[in-house]
Amino acid sequence: MKIGVIGGGQLGRMLALAGTPLGMNFAFLDPAPDACAAALGEHLRADYGDQDHLRQLADEVDLVTFEFESVPAETVAFLSQFVPVFPSAEALRIARDRLFEKSMFKDLGIPTPAFADILSQADLDAAVASIGLPAVLKTRTLGYDGKGQKVLRSTDDVAGTFAELGSVPCLLEGFVPFTGEVSLVAVRGRDGETAFYPLVHNTHEAGILRLSVASSSHPLQALAEDYAGRVLDKLGYVGVLAFEFFEVDGGLKANEIAPRVHNSGHWTIEGAECSQFENHLRAVAGLPLGSTAKVGESAMINFIGNVPDVSAVLAVEDCHLHHYGKAFKAGRKVGHATLRSEDAATLEKRIAQVQALG
Ligand code: AMP
Repeated sequence: MKIGVIGGGQLGRMLALAGTPLGMNFAFLDPAPDACAAALGEHLRADYGDQDHLRQLADEVDLVTFEFESVPAETVAFLSQFVPVFPSAEALRIARDRLFEKSMFKDLGIPTPAFADILSQADLDAAVASIGLPAVLKTRTLGYDGKGQKVLRSTDDVAGTFAELGSVPCLLEGFVPFTGEVSLVAVRGRDGETAFYPLVHNTHEAGILRLSVASSSHPLQALAEDYAGRVLDKLGYVGVLAFEFFEVDGGLKANEIAPRVHNSGHWTIEGAECSQFENHLRAVAGLPLGSTAKVGESAMINFIGNVPDVSAVLAVEDCHLHHYGKAFKAGRKVGHATLRSEDAATLEKRIAQVQALG
C-alpha cells in the first residue's frame, strides 16, 4: 500500500518509520527542498496548491493523509475527487480554525474558555469589556508553537493589538488559570473503533512543548476520553486526533485539537505497545488498531534548536534518540528523546540527566 502524505517534516518521517514494517510505501508532497521525510520516501517538491503535482500524488497512492492541518481547503477538496483522504475535509476545516473548533466544543457540551470572534479592533475592545482581562488574543488560523498569539494583561496591551497580529481574523479567549496542561491522543478507525492513549502532562516554554510525561491512571482520563469521543463521533473522524486540555478546578477545559499525530504523542514510539504513528496508519488504512497501553513509565523531551551530543544522550539508560535530520536553527524542533523506566522516581532522574545535556 502506498500512502501519500501532505507535508514532509518530522511527523511524516516518523509515519514512514512506523509504516515501512507494515509493507507501506510513502510519497510526501512538500515544497521545502530539505524536507526531512524525503529520506524515507518519494518527495514531490511542489506547493500545496499545485494541481499537477496533487494529481500525480493522487494517481500514485492508495490514500492521502496529512502531517499538518493548515492545508488549504482547496487542496483537500481537489485530492478528495481522486483518492480517499483521511482525516476528512470537514475535520480539517474545523481543526484549523480556532473559532470553528471552540464553537464545536461548545455545541458538544465540552467546557472551553470564554471566546469571541474578532474581526476588528472595535470587536476586540468590545470583547475585552465582556470577557475581561487577562485574556489571550490568537489568530484564528496558522498559529503554532505559541506563534500568532498575545496575552493581554492590561488595557495598555489591548490598544493596537489587532493590527499587531496582522489585522487577520482572531479569537479572544479568557485566560485560564490552569494548574496543568494535558493532552489526549485518540485514534478512530474507518469502522468507528476508537482507542485512547494515557493522558500526557505537558510542559511548554515560550509556547513550545519541552517535556511530555505519560501518566498512570490519571483521575481525569475518563473525562478526557468522554470529551474526545464526542468530537471523534461528531466528525466521523478517521486517524489520530490529539486533544489539548487545561487542567483547572479539578476538571478540564478544551484548548485545541490537532487532526494528526502530535508532538505530545512521540513518547508512544517506545513507550506504548503500538505508537501513535502506527495507529494513525492502521486507522487510515482500515486495519485493526493496535494497543494503546503504556509500557512502563515514559516521557519525551524535545530537542529545540540542536540535538545534544549523541553519545551523551545514548549513555542515559533506556533513552531513545530520534534525530530528525534537520538543519539546526534556534526555536526549531530538531529531535526528541523518549525516556523509559520501571518506576516514576527513576524516570524523574533520567529526565533530569537528559535536560542537563542542554
Ligand atoms: P495554543 O497555541 O492555543 O496551544 O497556545 C499555546 C500555549 O499558550 C498553551 O499551551 C498555553 O500554555 C497558553 N495558552 C493558550 N491559551 C490560553 C488560555 N486561554 N489561557 C491560558 N493560557 C493559554
